[in-house]
Amino acid sequence: MICPACAANDDRVIDSRASEGGKAIRRRRVCNRCGKRFTTYERVETAGRLMVVKRDGSRQAFDPQKILAGIEAACGKLPIAAQAKTQIVEEIDEELHREFEREVPALTIGERVAQRLRKLNQVAYVRFVSVYKEFHGLDQLIDEAQDVRERASTEVPGQGNLFPSGE
Ligand SMILES: [Zn+2]
Repeated sequence: MICPACAANDDRVIDSRASEGGKAIRRRRVCNRCGKRFTTYERVETAGRLMVVKRDGSRQAFDPQKILAGIEAACGKLPIAAQAKTQIVEEIDEELHREFEREVPALTIGERVAQRLRKLNQVAYVRFVSVYKEFHGLDQLIDEAQDVRERASTEVPGQGNLFPSGE
């Protein structure tokens, strides 16, 4: 397994145990080069098969390549490292499989890609949101992001004065 700290492919397993009620094996590993400890999970692949539920209720198998294609379309020729794009895909892939058992709404995936693109590059973010809206019909994306921001600004003390004009 590639070490997340130094990228060496030289580790040993120091602990293995059942996890998620026996659906996964959790292994603690230690890198032989830098000593970093990290965790891997082993699962039966079919059990982890995640379905994406679209707004019209139809389902299709989760495919990380589609996320990457969406990110690449949004980034276009912007000077963004390929590794930054694949890292977003890997993070979202892992996150969704951890949080969702069988089904995940397409909107959730779009939101998470948008959140990360926003930190990566503003132009790519805006393109992604507009492309997503046009081709996937996820027109609630912007509204929902707006709602989340508004809730955050009213709930967090001291944030209110960032918008002094009010109504
Ligand atoms: Zn290492």
